[in-house]
Amino acid sequence: MTLLAASVTDTARFRAYGPRQINEIATRYGLPEDVRETVRLFSLVLPFRVNEYVLSQLVDWRRAPEDPIFQLVFPQRGMLTADDELLLARLSGEGGSRAELDAAVRRIRARLNPHPAGQMQLNVPRHDGAELPGLQHKYRETVLYFPGQGQTCHSYCTYCFRWAQFVGEADLRFAAPGPEGLVSYLGEHPEVSDVLVTGGDPMVMSTARLRSHLEPLLGVPTVRTIRIGTKSVAYWPQRFVTDKDADDALRLFEEVVASGRNLAVMAHFSHPRELGTDLARQALRRIRSTGALVYCQAPIIAHVNDDAETWAELWRTELAAGAVPYYMFVERDTGPHDYFKVPLARSVEVFRAAYRELPGLARTVRGPVMSATPGKVAVDGVEQTPEGRFFRLRMLQARNPALVGRPFRAHYSADASWLDELKLDTSTPADLAEAVRGTPKGSGNGQSKSLA
Ligand code: SF4
Repeated sequence: MTLLAASVTDTARFRAYGPRQINEIATRYGLPEDVRETVRLFSLVLPFRVNEYVLSQLVDWRRAPEDPIFQLVFPQRGMLTADDELLLARLSGEGGSRAELDAAVRRIRARLNPHPAGQMQLNVPRHDGAELPGLQHKYRETVLYFPGQGQTCHSYCTYCFRWAQFVGEADLRFAAPGPEGLVSYLGEHPEVSDVLVTGGDPMVMSTARLRSHLEPLLGVPTVRTIRIGTKSVAYWPQRFVTDKDADDALRLFEEVVASGRNLAVMAHFSHPRELGTDLARQALRRIRSTGALVYCQAPIIAHVNDDAETWAELWRTELAAGAVPYYMFVERDTGPHDYFKVPLARSVEVFRAAYRELPGLARTVRGPVMSATPGKVAVDGVEQTPEGRFFRLRMLQARNPALVGRPFRAHYSADASWLDELKLDTSTPADLAEAVRGTPKGSGNGQSKSLA
């Protein structure tokens, strides 16, 4: 019996497909044996999850495996080393040892820098002397909140910088059991005006559950903006249209807005095709009808969206849907980074070529931006001077507020793809240089939808 329905309908119930369904997916869409085997092997290490909507509405199967949405959700050859692939094939094949396979999987994951930016250590706030699980406080005015029941997604992105959340290892997970710790912390930190509810994807929770996390925040007068980081409009727009508690979710949004807060839906769109369905456009219309604002962000990713036409179309489509183009991020150094990374020099070119095609109202977008240990660093361009070629950089956001908005520069490199690969110009002010040089190797904090 096939596990997969023939097509998705507007009223479909959500159901996730994972590694166990790869054979059915491959048969249904005619995937070659080697591609099927790659997905099977690589999903032993990396998370893999899709759903019927992604399969039948977003992937262009005529173009798989090169299709950008196929690349976005299916593990690909090249994401792990050839040696790792061989090892996984041997240990998972006939006669392989389960214990050895599990140990190999753990070793490979550990090599993939599962928690970039020291975020498990650096950004964890404390209350009454104890660490608060499922919270991060990096920038003065913003706290990130990871509700425990919202730490999955409707589908997983192969480039996800939070991939370690999804592989079932408890010590790699952020998760708050409930909002009590957050509310206590906010009571002691009136400087925090923004709470970003993130994951995973908080919109995987039922509305009743989401309400139990959001309502307590409305009793904290110093919280002025609630942000919800989500890719659900791209991966499961039914969440706002036809799910049985879709209307309840919209009522909840209205209540947040009626309380006088800003409600910002931080929507993650990687490719314009994600906005091309009637359901996605309807979802955005319904979200906006509640008074919520929609801000759009995504990283620039090789194989998925590393060309100017794609970004220009994405930002125009977002604007046409009444959403605000917000960030082009630089992919963070974690997971299969070598497969996805785009050199900063190339990212700047793509950004500028796309940006100049935009109407003024879409030029709200910033990028390319690295969300690194000291803060968010924008690569504003490349300049040629008598002393040589430089990247013009700027601190958009900073752990140390005194650094916010400050420009600096680094020597141009055609290959560098992260801040720690750049050599700062000697003219860089000492405080900036110290903050940037303190960035440990592999400590990227760049992201998709989620960070403030
Ligand atoms: S990038 Fe966002 S939507 Fe994609 S898997 Fe990661 S947390 Fe989920």
